[in-house]
Amino acid sequence: PAAAAAATEEPIQPPVDVKYTKLLINGNFVDAASGKTFPTVDPRTGEVIARVAEGDAEDIDRAVVAARRAFDEGPWPRMTAYERCRVLLRFADLIEQHAEEIAALETWDGGKTLDQTSETEVPMVARYMRYYAGWADKIHGLVVPADGRHHVQVLHEPIGVAGQIIPWNFPLLMFAWKVGPALACGNAVVLKTAEQTPLSALFVSSLLHEAGLPEGVLNVVSGFGPTAGAALSSHMGVDKLAFTGSTGTGKIVLELAARSNLKPVTLELGGKSPFIVMDDADVDQAVELAHRALFFNQGQCCCAGSRTFVHERIYDEFVEKAKARALQRVVGDPFRRGVEQGPQIDAEQFKKILRYVKSGVDSGATLVAGGDRVGSRGFYIQPTVFADVEDETKIAQDEIFGPVQSILKFSTVEEVVRRANATPYGLAAGVFTRSLDAANTMARALRVGTVWVNCYDVFDAAIPFGGYKMSGVGREKGFYSLRNYLQTKAVVTPIKDAAW
Ligand code: ADP
Repeated sequence: PAAAAAATEEPIQPPVDVKYTKLLINGNFVDAASGKTFPTVDPRTGEVIARVAEGDAEDIDRAVVAARRAFDEGPWPRMTAYERCRVLLRFADLIEQHAEEIAALETWDGGKTLDQTSETEVPMVARYMRYYAGWADKIHGLVVPADGRHHVQVLHEPIGVAGQIIPWNFPLLMFAWKVGPALACGNAVVLKTAEQTPLSALFVSSLLHEAGLPEGVLNVVSGFGPTAGAALSSHMGVDKLAFTGSTGTGKIVLELAARSNLKPVTLELGGKSPFIVMDDADVDQAVELAHRALFFNQGQCCCAGSRTFVHERIYDEFVEKAKARALQRVVGDPFRRGVEQGPQIDAEQFKKILRYVKSGVDSGATLVAGGDRVGSRGFYIQPTVFADVEDETKIAQDEIFGPVQSILKFSTVEEVVRRANATPYGLAAGVFTRSLDAANTMARALRVGTVWVNCYDVFDAAIPFGGYKMSGVGREKGFYSLRNYLQTKAVVTPIKDAAW
């Protein structure tokens, strides 16, 4: 009711102008070789925000050539690590200086609430950059003992030109996760942003050049997956590929990488993460946390807690309270302070989510809240809750990527672990209990890359993130991310007449 009213009001005028819409190649903003552009759309209304240069294979090639030159001949990999560190630190300062503008751009292009972009995401981007800046001058190799009279050094060198493909749900954070470690290690980058959200990466890339990044070290190509993304994945001049997106597309880029030059690939893919609530949990707290675990960012998170498993002894109470919480959720213009949920990213996702809601109803699950769009304009969807969801139904199996919570009932730890693991995904899990034994058992038994115990969505630059099974390959963040961007070289030298 209140939510519906908010979403049908006139959209708030975004407090920012769009300054950058061209491709960033070799330090310059340029048109696509084809001259083509594509629209990027305001999810609040479906109206066009701006037309953006549409890069394709030819532009990817220009960008890779620029990155190759910057890596093979330019100053970046040759300057001292401390100088690279200082460029990244200056970049973090500039992000803070322009924080309001950046947050507004991110909210406008992606429909994320301004509360979230300004209070959490933009500050995190600066934090991540400082974290990686700190690594730049602490990356070093080893001297290893070997049989015989040999001096053996292991050098950790930058890998070269990194191709990076990012999604639309966290455009700036994905920029930071990918570009931060690549640059800290001395690489050059060609970044392909998601076609739904090209704007913020172009803006912050201009700041990175202002901070002193040499030309060609970071190139940003806006464009579509099957054209620009595929060209980057299969380019012979790219030494490493990092991808975040859906599992289906992850398989495609891995194959393209293999068929071209066998570039190593890291993948951060989909999930169907369990959020498990034991019968000893504080129900009110658990309801709130499970709610946030699913509805955060309009439910558009790879690690969304999208299967809420609740112990049978507290099940009825939990469902009632989860329903009440969803009905309270404030949906509306993401620029309005206090709004918890903005629109979904685009018409395609909006329709897909509503199809899943229908499939949930058809499967016999109980629709306890929501189930429809909000208002008649833009891509707003009611916070939706299903109870009595069965494991084999589509809503319990597929990644919905929207504000749809599915609640399932269980009775023992053994049973819930088995069911939680019975999915091709393995990204994350939440465990809510006062029992240390139950928490420890589940933390070990769940086949996922992150287990949050009595918390959820705790992200930090130093904590590694990634998936088991079909949720991904490799880890990002923390020092684990550096491995993705370093090559290992052994240098073996005989020692003559060693005294020792
Ligand atoms: P979603 O379905 O959520 O849009 P995708 O995995 O399709 O997720 O998109 C993530 C990123 O992958 C985007 O930047 C998109 O343009 C890119 N992409 C999509 N298809 C391909 C492809 N065939 N090759 C390379 N990149 C692609």
